[in-house]
Amino acid sequence: MIVTAGPWTARLVPGLSRMLTVANFALAWFMPADISAFLPARLPGFMRDFGDMHAFGAPSIDGFSVKVSPHLPTVANPARRPMTLPREQLRWLGTQAQRIFPGLDPEPVRWSVHPDSQSPDSRPIIDTIGEGRISIAAGMSGNGFKFAPVWGQALADLALTGASPWQDAEFTLAHHADPVG
Ligand SMILES: Cc1cc2nc3c(=O)[nH]c(=O)nc-3n(C[C@H](O)[C@H](O)[C@H](O)COP(=O)(O)OP(=O)(O)OC[C@H]3O[C@@H](n4cnc5c(N)ncnc54)[C@H](O)[C@@H]3O)c2cc1C
Repeated sequence: MIVTAGPWTARLVPGLSRMLTVANFALAWFMPADISAFLPARLPGFMRDFGDMHAFGAPSIDGFSVKVSPHLPTVANPARRPMTLPREQLRWLGTQAQRIFPGLDPEPVRWSVHPDSQSPDSRPIIDTIGEGRISIAAGMSGNGFKFAPVWGQALADLALTGASPWQDAEFTLAHHADPVG
């Protein structure tokens, strides 16, 4: 069996609940005073860190707004994950977006909220339990898309042969149980 239930993994395999939380990613779009600096010819996709605030974004595709998405705090239980953003959080997103691009209007013109499973050190869990009969990939921590080909290969190898050259030591359950050991 292969378990890849993303943010819901710890509900299917409760033993993982002490290793995984749920990150709530908000996507937010803001209107700049001057859109020309935010078009694809001028602005690449980007990531920025300010102290403990991490944000990612992309150039304007619609020609009037730009995506700037500061990370929200993690939530403990996916069932209690907020599906909407209160005004206070929308204002926080706008304030953070303005730290990166002072020319933005801090009022988001569009936004949405999406979950991912999160491990404490952002390394995924790609390992087996049940004497090798159950393979698990979880804790993608906002990185599962770009690494999908190689992490998927690691998972397939584990399911078929019990081992994989792509399973880094940091992806094992032993690492997540004792990250410094
Ligand atoms: C807004 C946002 C932006 C992102 N941007 C990037 C990026 O730019 N680059 C990058 O590398 N990564 C990015 N990521 C992270 C990436 O999308 C995730 O890490 C990746 O999708 C996680 O894959 P997954 O298979 O673990 O979980 P998911 O993609 O969440 O898939 C889990 C699936 O399991 C299903 N499921 C749950 N429970 C059950 C069940 N009981 N039975 C059957 N099915 C079940 C769910 O419906 C879901 O389809 C982003 C994530 C978000 C939310």
